[in-house]
Amino acid sequence: MRGAHSLARNDRDAARPAFDVEKVRADFPILRVMAHGKPLVYLDNAATSQNPRQVIEAESNYYATSNSNVHRGIHYLSERATSAFEASRDKARDFLHARDRAEVIFVRGTTEAINLVANSFVRPGLRAGDEVLISTMEHHSNIVPWQLACEATGAKLRVVPINEAGEIILSEFERLLGPRTRFVSLVHVSNALGTVNPVKQMIAMAHAQGVPVLLDGAQAAPHVVLDVQDLGCDFYAFSGHKAYAPTGIGILYGRREHLEKMPPYQGGGDMIRSVSFEKTTYNDLPHRFEAGTPNVGGAVGLGAAIDYMNEIGREAVEKHEAGLLAYATEKLSAVPKLRIVGTAKHKVAVVSFLIDSIHPHDMGTILDLEGIAIRAGHHCTQPLMQRFGIAATARASFGCYNTKEEIDALVAGLDKVLEVFA
Ligand code: PMP
Repeated sequence: MRGAHSLARNDRDAARPAFDVEKVRADFPILRVMAHGKPLVYLDNAATSQNPRQVIEAESNYYATSNSNVHRGIHYLSERATSAFEASRDKARDFLHARDRAEVIFVRGTTEAINLVANSFVRPGLRAGDEVLISTMEHHSNIVPWQLACEATGAKLRVVPINEAGEIILSEFERLLGPRTRFVSLVHVSNALGTVNPVKQMIAMAHAQGVPVLLDGAQAAPHVVLDVQDLGCDFYAFSGHKAYAPTGIGILYGRREHLEKMPPYQGGGDMIRSVSFEKTTYNDLPHRFEAGTPNVGGAVGLGAAIDYMNEIGREAVEKHEAGLLAYATEKLSAVPKLRIVGTAKHKVAVVSFLIDSIHPHDMGTILDLEGIAIRAGHHCTQPLMQRFGIAATARASFGCYNTKEEIDALVAGLDKVLEVFA
């Protein structure tokens, strides 16, 4: 399977022209926006990435030519909508390299995907004294659902510590994987630090103890070539809006043998086979977990975003972004009094930083006036901020369309910040 998948990817690579960032930029209309009279420098991709015209057009075409409800109607438009929706599922299956399209569930985003697994897979089996294991660098959406499940059942949330560089301490992970561990939920790539966790190894360690693993792939999906079968994860979650697709759509991948055993998460239309007041029977996978009218336009947009990522080349983007990370790390390190938070050996192009005692929000406000969009705050990782003894960071996060010139603009903007606070 993996061989065939790699071959398909190699074929795609051979047919593709070399990566050209200016050509990529031309695909993103929003990059032509002037922010406060300055050319927009968009460095907040970890929060939400922008959509190429191919995605905007696919969604708009869907509404112009095919808008209808899915799986229900017998008319022309409903068939068009259903086939566009299901075609996007096939694209997502290929994107993740899942074995089976039934393992690919449309959700609103990573948050909904994790809540689904917490409520439907983990919580029904949790008993007092059981443990759910996460790490210090989790996003709130991979903390709170587990706290809720633990509070309701008397289970305990255990947290794997990280080192100063922002890397999971694997010996601690091994130590915490105990006889009471029922589930492990880990971020694949940290949104606040950029750390790429050694998830394949960690999954193997958890599986050796019979413990299933969910990966929060919100930050990995747009940056890392994914293969859920090779990783061996039980569940994988990601959001479209961080991967060049619209908001309000995401994917939960789950291994079929788990999904088959899970009770429905939400009840409603589409997830049933038959309903009577005495007894309801449920639909097959994946529809059993897709109650109600889905975000069809968003799914079409996600399919187009996956096509787009394949077209420009995911390996080529990885390489381009690695160049941006190296350049940003070098240039930012040279800014007086600047300290990078998160210096893991293996990172994606996310750089969190602090300058002396200047509040990140003040940096963000001054940069905004220069047309530069960064994020300032706790990045929905308050426990991680506590681990580093800080309240917030400034964060520049890069995507396929960013350039070294934009990093130079960021550095020039930070010089202004330093002047203001001199
Ligand atoms: N996990 C990580 C690592 C994230 O970066 C985010 C979004 N910042 C989420 C989960 C939540 O994603 P969403 O808000 O799209 O559900």
